[in-house]
Amino acid sequence: MRYVSTRGDAPVLGFEAVTLAGLASDGGLYLPDAWPTMTRDEIAELAGLSYVDTAVAVMMPFVGDAMTREELKALCEQAYGRFAHAAVTPLVQLDHDQWLLELFHGPTLAFKDVALQLLGLLFERFLTGSTKHVTIVGATSGDTGSAAIDALAGRAGIDVFMLHPSGRISEVQRRQMTTVLSPNIHNIAIDGSFDQAQALVKAMFNDRAFAGRFTLSAVNSINWARLMAQVVYFFYAAVRLGAPEREIAFSVPTGNFGDVFAGYVAAKMGLPVARLIVATNVNDILHRALSTGDYSQKGVTHTPTPSMDIQVSSNFERLLFDLGGRDGKAQAAQMAGFESSGAMRLSNAQSKGASALFASDRVDFDDMALAMRWAHEHAGQVIDPHTAIALAAARRAPGDVPMVTLATAHPAKFGDAVERAIGLRPPLPARLGDLFEREERLATLPATFEAVTGYIAERATATA
Ligand SMILES: *Cc1c(COP(=O)(O)O)cnc(C)c1O
Repeated sequence: MRYVSTRGDAPVLGFEAVTLAGLASDGGLYLPDAWPTMTRDEIAELAGLSYVDTAVAVMMPFVGDAMTREELKALCEQAYGRFAHAAVTPLVQLDHDQWLLELFHGPTLAFKDVALQLLGLLFERFLTGSTKHVTIVGATSGDTGSAAIDALAGRAGIDVFMLHPSGRISEVQRRQMTTVLSPNIHNIAIDGSFDQAQALVKAMFNDRAFAGRFTLSAVNSINWARLMAQVVYFFYAAVRLGAPEREIAFSVPTGNFGDVFAGYVAAKMGLPVARLIVATNVNDILHRALSTGDYSQKGVTHTPTPSMDIQVSSNFERLLFDLGGRDGKAQAAQMAGFESSGAMRLSNAQSKGASALFASDRVDFDDMALAMRWAHEHAGQVIDPHTAIALAAARRAPGDVPMVTLATAHPAKFGDAVERAIGLRPPLPARLGDLFEREERLATLPATFEAVTGYIAERATATA
């Protein structure tokens, strides 16, 4: 399997290199040069397989010759053995044709664990026995940071520097990061906003001397291997509800377009997906793009669904590239226009291609709260606010096929918002019970390039 950049000007890479690189050197995102496909019979054979065996069957074509089947299976067993549910991603029925796909049974209670637990092991596998060393630098508003830290703690060849805005994430989220005391984990609280933290990280990647000296890498959803790991649960859920005989629809609470793009990949591989609903909160750039062709950036409104409070959706570029005829030059020009003006129009081919599979919806605060109450009163399910955005969209979408809403966070992670909507506070699962007693370690730094790079340079491993 070979991987190409959406901007057409970066080296073609294999799976191992694409995993370690994250972003392409031309600023684009990597994609397989062609989609592998599964026949109807091959999809039917997934029925009855465990999550791990499904994962191996779905991911093996993307891994190519970077690992054997046995090696991939061993990594999947290790990654998904840490989940608290034997089904890894269980389905829960809400009514006759509405279902929840619970993706939050991993160590940090967010769906990001599904991909990051595997990614951490892939990094270690590709770095062990080599002299290579990578420095992961990231900014987080909560969920990504805790999932990445849990996945990478103690792994050989990797240092992690995670920036978060001081005092602006929940105590559960902070403690999930700062109580991990492995020597390769470095939490940095910056005196500033999430946007400032993200801008600092971007500046470090753009500083070629600094980025090269410490072999900086990223684990946000621009990393191809993360998307690949997320394709699995679309197959896993769909075959349990009757695929390939029946078509299945999915509603996905969307921020950076990573999760729902994995659904698109599943459809490209041959899974009979009737529809993918891109559910946004009031930060609705994707809903506007998909319903009117206008992809234009606006200011961020803070909501009870912080993982969807985005200005732009980085993975959308992957869809535009695939639908626009895979023309790297044209994609680079479209993105350059967007980067200079903050707005762009989808081409006719892009709009038409998207509307064949995607629908979109924008869900406001009141409808989100109503969906939380409906799930509780009519199906006995306590759901988190992100999941509620997608459930609201799922319930008002037309259609007569089974509809699966992706449940992306455990409700206890957003206890305040849940309590406000349904009058009940979900308890933290027992395995996190002593989180509030554990020792914390973090550094607090001013939000300046000098302070943060100085701190990292003293602690990271430089390339020989
Ligand atoms: C990250 C996240 C999302 C958004 O996923 P994308 O892949 O960025 O679209 C939705 N819900 C929760 C709880 C998340 O952590």
